[in-house]
Amino acid sequence: MHYYKNNKIVNFSILVHKIIKMFEIKTSKLLKTIMRDYFTGMQTSNKPIAWCTSVGPAELLRSFGFEVYFPENHGALLGATRKAGDYIPNAAKIGYSSDICSYLTADVGAYMQKTSPLMKHYGLSGVPKPDFIVYNTNQCREVQDWFTYFAKEFSCPIFGILPPRHVDEVNIEDIKNVSKQFKSLIPYCENITKNKFDIDRFRETLGMSKDAVELWKKSLETSKNTPSPFSFFDATIHMGPIVVLRGTDIAKTYYKTLFAELSDYVTARKGFLEKESSRIYWEGMPIWGRLRYMSDLFIQNNSAVVASTYCNSWVFDDFDKKNPFESSALAYTSIFINRSEKAKLEIMKKLVKEYKIGGVIFHDAKTCFNNSNASFGMPGRLKKDTGVETLIIEGDLCDLRFFSEEQTTIKIETLLEQLTIY
Ligand code: SF4
Repeated sequence: MHYYKNNKIVNFSILVHKIIKMFEIKTSKLLKTIMRDYFTGMQTSNKPIAWCTSVGPAELLRSFGFEVYFPENHGALLGATRKAGDYIPNAAKIGYSSDICSYLTADVGAYMQKTSPLMKHYGLSGVPKPDFIVYNTNQCREVQDWFTYFAKEFSCPIFGILPPRHVDEVNIEDIKNVSKQFKSLIPYCENITKNKFDIDRFRETLGMSKDAVELWKKSLETSKNTPSPFSFFDATIHMGPIVVLRGTDIAKTYYKTLFAELSDYVTARKGFLEKESSRIYWEGMPIWGRLRYMSDLFIQNNSAVVASTYCNSWVFDDFDKKNPFESSALAYTSIFINRSEKAKLEIMKKLVKEYKIGGVIFHDAKTCFNNSNASFGMPGRLKKDTGVETLIIEGDLCDLRFFSEEQTTIKIETLLEQLTIY
């Protein structure tokens, strides 16, 4: 239902929802503490700091004693706090197009302005300064340009891992190639940390990561139940520790607590919606600056957004501490974003079936074609193979100039009206 106010279309149900009590996941309180300790810990720690891409070899770095900081997480923070739009023009002034990754442009722009949400939220003096910068282009080439900019700014050593891209399946030669690159990191890490490589420490770190990843996967899978206790929008918040604290006991403990809470809701048949009239799969990046809005929009239409490949991107089934290099090379090279269209379609079809999905929303993020999957006929192929309805919405991860609340709301509500009740 809509009405018009000051020439703007307004979703009436969303206004009503503001007075409705939200379903609350209690583990959120622990999340706040963990994230605060993670960021403030980097300021007070005397350990060296490595910057790493979100699906880079964090476990290997941690095994040397690095604290690990993730600029993409900072990009998401700039998006979620709706500050990205203030900083993107700074990056444009030094030649970074506003059409490229808005994590990159927002992050570079905030740095140029000497500001960060970490200052206000956690009392930091700015982003943690790197002693080493490591990227993996398994997700995109943009990270190479982004991290190279900062390596120059901080006069810091930088190391890039360049795996084969867009693979159908990862083969033995690919694994050899990437694990060799991982091994080439060792002398850099030894030189910076003054710690000798310890294979047992690496195995232990990868083991902790594997445990956390399994608990994260099980938490996501509680949404296979109807009613679902956990939405995609909740998952984008609770994924913080699996991104930034993989390879620590903290992440493992956190997901144990989260999974226990969600399991209790499943047993009690308690969901974030009392009655689900449709179940949706969100494909692509979150719209960080409109997360709450989007969550409310679906809730008020009794629609449960329960699956995504985005949140599953930090599920690494292949980690195996017996073969730490080869198994992490396999896990990090076979991530969804690094797969062929053919492989991606099969992954999506599996999720549609397992989560009893009625409709798939493809978020066509204007500054991240790497993680947008609507441009090469995928929505049509998925609909043909599974029978589910698909919808493409335009938006962005951080740059809200590419997002129209009105148009998106109309498109989504029209889709939801069409969907059958499960
Ligand atoms: S995958 Fe997309 S959002 Fe992530 S760093 Fe690359 S271009 Fe940016």
